[in-house]
Amino acid sequence: MQTNFSLAQLADPHVAESERILRKCVHCGFCTATCPTYVTLGNELDSPRGRIYLIKDMLENGRPADKEIVTHIDRCLSCLACMTTCPSGVNYMHLVDHARAHIQETYRRPLLDRLTRAMLAVVLPYPSRFRAALRLAGLGRPFVGLFEKLPALKPVAAMLKLAPAWIPPASPTASPGTHAGQGAKRGRVAILTGCAQSVLDPAINETTISLLTRLGVEVVVPEGEGCCGALVHHMGREAAALASARQNVDAWIRAIDQGGLDAIIITASGCGTTIKDYGFMLRLDPAYAEKAARVSSLAKDITEYLAVLDLPEPVRKPGTIVAYHSACSMQHGQKITRQPKELLAKAGFVVREPREGHLCCGSAGTYNILQPEISAKLRDRKVKNIEATGAEIVATGNIGCITQIASAAKLPVVHTIKLLDWAYGGPKPEGVSDAKLVAAE
Ligand code: SF4
Ligand code: SF4
Repeated sequence: MQTNFSLAQLADPHVAESERILRKCVHCGFCTATCPTYVTLGNELDSPRGRIYLIKDMLENGRPADKEIVTHIDRCLSCLACMTTCPSGVNYMHLVDHARAHIQETYRRPLLDRLTRAMLAVVLPYPSRFRAALRLAGLGRPFVGLFEKLPALKPVAAMLKLAPAWIPPASPTASPGTHAGQGAKRGRVAILTGCAQSVLDPAINETTISLLTRLGVEVVVPEGEGCCGALVHHMGREAAALASARQNVDAWIRAIDQGGLDAIIITASGCGTTIKDYGFMLRLDPAYAEKAARVSSLAKDITEYLAVLDLPEPVRKPGTIVAYHSACSMQHGQKITRQPKELLAKAGFVVREPREGHLCCGSAGTYNILQPEISAKLRDRKVKNIEATGAEIVATGNIGCITQIASAAKLPVVHTIKLLDWAYGGPKPEGVSDAKLVAAE
C-alpha cells in the first residue's frame, strides 16, 4: 500500500512503525473472510482491510480520531485472526494498538463510555478491587433487565450478567513464595499470578503449580508481579500498560537474578500474547528494552512448557470426548495450535475441534462488556459449534473464553490444565461431576 507520510511525521517512531506495517498491506482482502466482525456485520469498515484504510487516513492526515473511526476500531476484537490469514505478514496487532492509543489521546468519548472504561481500568487489573466489585454485583443483578433497555447502560448489564454468583476465596498460592519440586529437579519457572483469573478461578494456577511440582519443577511466585497490562493496553491506555509491563519485568528479572528461570509460565493466553510483546512495547525505553526482550523470550504458555517436558504416562486414561476451544490469543496471538490438543490426546482424552475454530467466542478482554451485542452473537455461534461436536467437556486455555462460553453452554468449560492434572493423578476438576470423568475414575 502506498503511503504519504511527511518526514516530520516519520520522525515519530510510532508513526514510522505503523507506516512500515501499512506498506506491507496489498489490499487483497483475504483477511475479511476470517474476521469475526466482518462475518457478523458484513460491513467493509468492520473488516481488517477497512480498518487499515481508516487508520491510514487518520494517521497520514495527522487527524484526531472521530466518531466513525472510533466506532469501527471499538468493534475490533483484537482477535488477530486477520494476522493468521494475511499472506503479506501485516502486523495488524501493532497497527491497531497504535490506533487505540491515538484514539485515547485525541477523542473525547461520551460521559458514560468514559466512566465505564475508567472503572474497568481501575478495577479489573487489581484482584482485591475486582473481588469487591464482584460482591457488589450481586446487589445490581435484579436490575439487569432495566439496564439492558437503556443503550448507555448495556455495558453495566453485560458486566452484571457475567459476574459469577459465587466467588472463590483468594488462593494462598497467589502469594509470593517458592513451591519446591518433588524428586529430581527438572527446572525452575516463575508463574504469572495475573489479575482477573486469580479472582474468578484461582484453582487454575493452584492446579498448574501442583502438576509442575509433582513433575519436579520448582515454581516461583515472584514478589511484585501484577496484571500483565493487556486490559488497559487494549483500551489504548499506554502509560498504564507500560507501567504494568515494567513492574512485571522488574519482578521477573529479580527472580532470574536470584536463581535463574527456565520459563515464565502463563496460564491465560490473553496475558501470554501481551507478555510476549513486552520486548516490542518497551523497545523505545533504554532502561527496559533489553530486559523486556529477555522476559518476552522466556514467556511460555503452560501447554508450550509441558509439551517439551517429556511427560510420563498418565495415571488415568479417561476416553472422555473433549471439545478443544483454541482462544484467539492462543492460536492467532501466539500461534500455539498443536500442543494443547496433543497433550490432551496423550493424556487419554478424545479431542474434537469445533467448526469455525478460527472465529472468536466474543470474549476478547473487556469486549463482552463494551460491545455486548456483537459479543453475544459470536458467543452463541461458538457455543452452537462446540455443542455440535458431541463433546462432554470443553477445554480451553484462557479465563476470558471460559467465562464467556460457560455463560451460554450446557457443557462444563474448564481450563486445559485441569484435565491434564486430573489425568496425571490430580483431583477431579470442579464442576464436571456429571461428566464422563466420574465413570472413568
Ligand atoms: S483483530 Fe479480529 S476483529 Fe479485528 S480486524 Fe482482525 S480479524 Fe477482525
Ligand atoms: S490479507 Fe493482509 S495484505 Fe491482504 S488486505 Fe488483509 S491485511 Fe492487507
